[in-house]
Amino acid sequence: MSKFGIGRRRVNRKRTTSVTPHFVAHKEMARELVLARLGHFNQFYDVSWNRVAIRNTRTSWGSCSALGNLNFNYKLLFIPRDLADYVIAHELCHLQEFNHGPRFWALLAQVMPDYNERRTALRALEQSRELTDHAIRSRYYVQPVQQIERY
Ligand SMILES: [Zn+2]
Repeated sequence: MSKFGIGRRRVNRKRTTSVTPHFVAHKEMARELVLARLGHFNQFYDVSWNRVAIRNTRTSWGSCSALGNLNFNYKLLFIPRDLADYVIAHELCHLQEFNHGPRFWALLAQVMPDYNERRTALRALEQSRELTDHAIRSRYYVQPVQQIERY
């Protein structure tokens, strides 16, 4: 089954997800963020998905399967909200355009004209050391769930 995802790709045989105490403690909060923002952007797109899974993935922010299943990295909770929104809207658009062709990007631009700036900023964040587990625990704070809808 083919899959489109956002993130660095590595070829290795190590497992790509792991269940850590930090993940377990924040998984449901990440799900609330993701579902709230999917709902927000879907006011425009009005597509449907099958299932949303929150994972602690090593190399991807999000992915969309051919069956309409959406997967998101719980660390979306710990990056700037405009970048998390980019990932969430990006995967939502894959439900309609299952590729990275010009129509896909045009679709995304309809809700996010500055998607390319956000994409660049996300890449820069990946290159920095700010996303190690230690950095996430010590330098980022979790935005309270009740504030998510206001964003
Ligand atoms: Zn994609």
